[in-house]
Amino acid sequence: MGRSIRVAVIGAGMAGILAAIKLRERDIECVVFEKGDSVGGTWRENQYPGLACDVAAHWYTYSFARNPEWDSLMAEGKDIRAYFERVARDFGIMPLIRFNDEVVQLRFDEAGWDLLTASGHTDRFDVVIAATGVLHHPNIPHFDGIETFSGAAFHSVHWDHDVELDGKRIGVIGTGSTAAQLTSALVPRADQFQLFQRTAQWVMPRENISYTEEDKARFRENPAVLEELVRELRSKTLEGFANAVIDYDSPELAAIEQLCQENLETIRDPDLRQRLTPSYRAACKRLVISNTFYDAIQQPNAELVTSPIERVEPEGLRTADGQLHELDVLVLATGFKVDRFIRPTRVIGRNGVDLDAVWADGPKAYLSMSVPDFPNFFLLNGPNSPVGNFSLVEVAQHQIEYILQLVDGIRRGEYTEVSATEEAMQQFETERCEAAQKTVWVTGCDSWYLDKQGVPASWTFSYDRFEQETKAPRMQDYQVHAAHSSTASQGGVREQDQAGRRVK
Ligand code: NAP
Repeated sequence: MGRSIRVAVIGAGMAGILAAIKLRERDIECVVFEKGDSVGGTWRENQYPGLACDVAAHWYTYSFARNPEWDSLMAEGKDIRAYFERVARDFGIMPLIRFNDEVVQLRFDEAGWDLLTASGHTDRFDVVIAATGVLHHPNIPHFDGIETFSGAAFHSVHWDHDVELDGKRIGVIGTGSTAAQLTSALVPRADQFQLFQRTAQWVMPRENISYTEEDKARFRENPAVLEELVRELRSKTLEGFANAVIDYDSPELAAIEQLCQENLETIRDPDLRQRLTPSYRAACKRLVISNTFYDAIQQPNAELVTSPIERVEPEGLRTADGQLHELDVLVLATGFKVDRFIRPTRVIGRNGVDLDAVWADGPKAYLSMSVPDFPNFFLLNGPNSPVGNFSLVEVAQHQIEYILQLVDGIRRGEYTEVSATEEAMQQFETERCEAAQKTVWVTGCDSWYLDKQGVPASWTFSYDRFEQETKAPRMQDYQVHAAHSSTASQGGVREQDQAGRRVK
């Protein structure tokens, strides 16, 4: 096809590996920049005990590389990491990756991007795809006295594997999905375990079905059987969950609430049950999915601490009720800064406009993928993508197929620059914020889904709409520039060819 172009992919996690595979399929030259020393993204970064994915494993795979080998419905983190490593190897992506060098700046100039890495390496690309993840930069709140703590203290994403856990006094701050998994994994190992809860969470039970060797053999021998399983897992989640989150009056949300309530009622001690009872609706914060958390927190060596943390002392945590909770190990399961995306990389678009300034009030992108004035720059799992209990692998697959249609326009020589128009971006945002009014995320809780203005930083429409919107670009929503033409056009209907003639 027409022009040969070069594409930079930033990040070698799930989305970056996907982008590289899809670019290679189209014979497009690409370089993947990875600041770490291996692939896997969030599955490389997170290595805490109990790490698993609460999205069904068979669905949490690329559609072109299903995995018949999963041992259970919800796979362990190490197995998911191994899956992404294997796919990257099998699809020949490894040689395309430049490891251990962080991209620190991207500057747009004349239909291309000048890229600079921390080591001083420079390169130029026609297109940049940011596959830098959402839950990546840890949120590390300051607790007074933390520097005086005599034990080991670290964030869940910075797990220190040298620290002994067995028979120790372990404290975990937070009650999100991470803390719930940690609780289930650490209670059996600790002498004493304390969970420091600021806000109670709804916990939805889900049995973690095991797959036998016979099941795996069946999936291996007959991919149609495996595909049928994926369809089932997918439609169960989408039917039960996708409607629930966008409509707080929906029967689906009522069903989730009932399941969570029934689960909560399994807590035997009324005082513990009352302290574990959230004061907001289920799924307002991301649902914790666990069959083991409630059992773990009811063990004799486990304690739920709800008095607020006042400070850290050398021996442990002092809470507002005056009690000192003595600890050997303190884990901050305090979540992530979710508004970073490609940043801190400095991204300078058309006419020197800085992405940091454009996103000062929060990150926004047309259909989560394109930002006005940042031509040929696209995001995977970018701002306001569907998040939550969906398969982000599937989300990224829809997005890359859409982005590559825009990239193909460059290759065909139809234009040299393409980015969403300001009008399309504004229209998308207006509709997105309107739709947010009916979502469960605004029903009275604080969560990482909400931006600074209290608007959910998420896809607030139906999942069907996401699939529809990402089928093919509506070119009237894009501003394109033709080669050697100073004329920009909106809507792809007035591009000019290299001689300045109208081509459409
Ligand atoms: P999170 O859901 O943001 O939870 C952070 C927890 O830390 C909350 O309980 C929060 O309390 C608490 N916290 C934060 N600052 C605090 C402070 N200063 N004092 C006391 N408590 C504080 O983070 P996460 O559990 O790491 O999960 C983040 C996301 O990662 C999840 O929502 C999910 O999307 C993903 N994840 C997925 C899986 C999976 O199985 N698929 C597993 C782990 C994580 P408040 O609620 O009061 O703010």
